[in-house]
Amino acid sequence: MKAAVLYGPRDLRLEDVAPPEMGPDDVLISVRSVGICGSDVHYLQSGRIGDFVVRDPMILGHETAGVVVDVGANVKGLRVGDRVAVEPGIPCRTCEPCKTGRYNLCPDVRFLATPPVDGSLCELIVSPADFAYKVPDHVTLDEAALIEPLSVGLHACRRGGVTAGSTVLITGAGPIGLTCVMTALAFGATRVFVTDLQEHRLRKAEELGATAALVVGKDDVREAVLELTEGRGVDVAIECSGAERALHTCVQAAKPGGRVVLVGLGADDLVTVPMVHVATKELDLVGIFRYVYTYPAAIELVSTGRIDMKKLITHRFPLEEVHKGFEYAEKGIDGAIKVMIEVG
Ligand code: NAD
Ligand code: ZN
Repeated sequence: MKAAVLYGPRDLRLEDVAPPEMGPDDVLISVRSVGICGSDVHYLQSGRIGDFVVRDPMILGHETAGVVVDVGANVKGLRVGDRVAVEPGIPCRTCEPCKTGRYNLCPDVRFLATPPVDGSLCELIVSPADFAYKVPDHVTLDEAALIEPLSVGLHACRRGGVTAGSTVLITGAGPIGLTCVMTALAFGATRVFVTDLQEHRLRKAEELGATAALVVGKDDVREAVLELTEGRGVDVAIECSGAERALHTCVQAAKPGGRVVLVGLGADDLVTVPMVHVATKELDLVGIFRYVYTYPAAIELVSTGRIDMKKLITHRFPLEEVHKGFEYAEKGIDGAIKVMIEVG
């Protein structure tokens, strides 16, 4: 089968590889749509993310949807022909985080396109049947692939306690920040403010329903947020840029007793935090790592029209043009936000 295999920094090859083998609890999926994520771009650029280093050739891609073409002997819930969104992180199911319902924190999780696990930019993948979620016929396979990034936004809003009437600040309007905008609104947030350096991304945030879009460097974001909230600050601030400065803005703009959610992962692990603000406002600083049990709710939000992930898709390329797809995603060519690779 054809696959987009990363050999090392800047060495992505489209080549023929052996198809995967299936076990009795698995389904075999004909991959149809894969979204390019910032982490895929990062592996392409530097061959690593932190301690995860591409030592052996690895197939990229983890935002996946496709059609079931074979089911293992023990599989009950899925049939050949079912269209599925694939949750990419398979936990061990036996450790403490797994058993206490936080399987995203499993130390032995095997996550697609995270070394040494191959990803989904290829024609066929195998998934445990319970991590492949059937989507209704009217949900496109592009939308099904984007259940993955939507899950990050959903988990961030859950951890942030976003609820009806919440006032929310989101720093960074990349695909993840924009997904947080849509999720916060779907959760009933009534005022959602967004910041970014790039105006076209902010325009997209407004198109998605953001109440105010603030240009970092041009607007005094902290002042603007205080003004927009009558001096009160926001209930929840969700940091989605990885920038230290944006983390400061979140801490400064959160209301006393508010919550700051850390989604963005910057290049530096050690950053400064305005600690007097955190202490004297009794802020809750919460981290998020991927997501846990978000797929059913995310699919509901998309299938009922509460969230339209299609609005994030700016480009589509066939697998044969995967290099071009990565170039668009990396450089933001032609206003690229979410680039999809169509397989098969
Ligand atoms: P992205 O790079 O496409 O978007 C980041 C956006 O932040 C860009 O639009 C950029 O212009 C903007 N930005 C940069 N500096 C800023 C500043 N000072 N203030 C406001 N905006 C600023 O990335 P993405 O795919 O949207 O992902 C966002 C972040 O979330 C990344 O850091 C990524 O690593 C992280 N992430 C974390 C998790 C997790 O589980 N915690 C999961 C997925 C992604
Ligand atoms: Zn585990």
